[in-house]
Amino acid sequence: MFEKILIANRGEIALRVIRACREMGIKSVAVHSTADADAMHVRMADESVCIGPPAGTESYLSMPAIISACEITGAQAIHPGYGFLSENAAFVQIVEDHQITFIGPSAEHIRIMGDKITAKETAKNLGIPVVPGSDGGVATLEDAEKVSEEIGYPVIIKATAGGGGRGMKLATTAGELETAFRTARSEAKAAFGNDEVYIEKYLGRPRHIEIQVFGDGKGNAVHLGERDCSLQRRHQKVFEEAPGPAITAEERARIGKVCADAVAQINYIGAGTVEFLYEDGEFYFIEMNTRLQVEHPVTEAVFGVDLVREQIRVAAGLPMEFRQEDLEVQGHAIEIRINAEKLPNFAPSPGKITQYHAPGGLGVRMDSALYDGYSIPPYYDSLIGKLIVEGRDRPEALARLRRALAEIIIDGIDTTIPLFDALLAEPDIQTGDYNIHWLEKWLEQALE
Ligand code: ADP
Repeated sequence: MFEKILIANRGEIALRVIRACREMGIKSVAVHSTADADAMHVRMADESVCIGPPAGTESYLSMPAIISACEITGAQAIHPGYGFLSENAAFVQIVEDHQITFIGPSAEHIRIMGDKITAKETAKNLGIPVVPGSDGGVATLEDAEKVSEEIGYPVIIKATAGGGGRGMKLATTAGELETAFRTARSEAKAAFGNDEVYIEKYLGRPRHIEIQVFGDGKGNAVHLGERDCSLQRRHQKVFEEAPGPAITAEERARIGKVCADAVAQINYIGAGTVEFLYEDGEFYFIEMNTRLQVEHPVTEAVFGVDLVREQIRVAAGLPMEFRQEDLEVQGHAIEIRINAEKLPNFAPSPGKITQYHAPGGLGVRMDSALYDGYSIPPYYDSLIGKLIVEGRDRPEALARLRRALAEIIIDGIDTTIPLFDALLAEPDIQTGDYNIHWLEKWLEQALE
């Protein structure tokens, strides 16, 4: 086992990894920008190294600075968290060239899943159901018309190099195709420097269902059920739950096995998430994330596992501590993402926290790097906390969420907490009747 791990991240996820290290008797090294000298992850780690100025590109994304920090402190492995360098294949290669272990999948698997067309092709070849669409890129308007006729309108045109919900255009009818195709290409060129696009059938009211998978890199893999992350604003998740309110135990077992078998076939190592759109009982692959997800705690809650501990174990060459037959969903868990943002426009709201009080009690977990007097710097993601609740069933989890929200105090800045107070009063949220468009529609009315 490793003696020392460097965490190439900040905020709540850095704390999450430091906590797992401490429980495993492993020393932790925090890295930080000059803006984060007083951050909680720096205080909590055993050692820390300043790796650059505030801008992420010059600190948390600086590969030479992170490698040097490993060499200075003697860290044997790097945990990347999520975001920053977590899905950067070139970084993984450099880490390995320096005889440091990357806690995550291989550079090759990250590369395959980072390109949307290759990812979709690979998924299809591994037996995962995909959205009907073009085989690979579509170069001409003629081809676009042909494919769209075949799969039927509406269609969505997506950038091969896309990400973050950008570079997508909808064509509801054949009449709209030409404009959509040309706009998608020029926007893709401008945003990603690559104008290749592909076409998919557009699903009207799907849910976002993702399957947590985990492999040991030696041909063994398990699945840990699904998360429903359909409540999204601008393709950003805000509320996630496990199990999915619309998914049956049979569906979970079936799609879970398909995903676990797929990643076992490629000797995948560590945590991964296979994302689907789900409509009328069918799953349609959209992408795979080759890292720990922000919303992983809901899976930990209902399966009683520590995913970060497992990531560290398999990276060290140890077997997984769980087998598929031991993994049963128990109860229900919900996570909400608390952002430093001011409603109704979700404008960033960094600043000094004058008072912080975390909720507690049975079934409540608060993952946050906040503390009294902490100043949230303006340079990074606005996520400042994740509140995770669990109960024996969904109504109990919802009641606990309402109760925990009433306890939480974050003074000095604006947060998205009032959004969740309002959401919890909605009958559709209480019954779990929502899809990927629900939140945007609701926001249009509620925040007018
Ligand atoms: P990105 O990598 O940019 O996030 P994804 O392929 O994951 O792109 O898609 C992001 C979101 O766009 C999905 O969660 C869904 O809301 C919407 N979307 C993508 N493909 C389709 C489709 N075929 N039909 C309907 N909505 C889609």
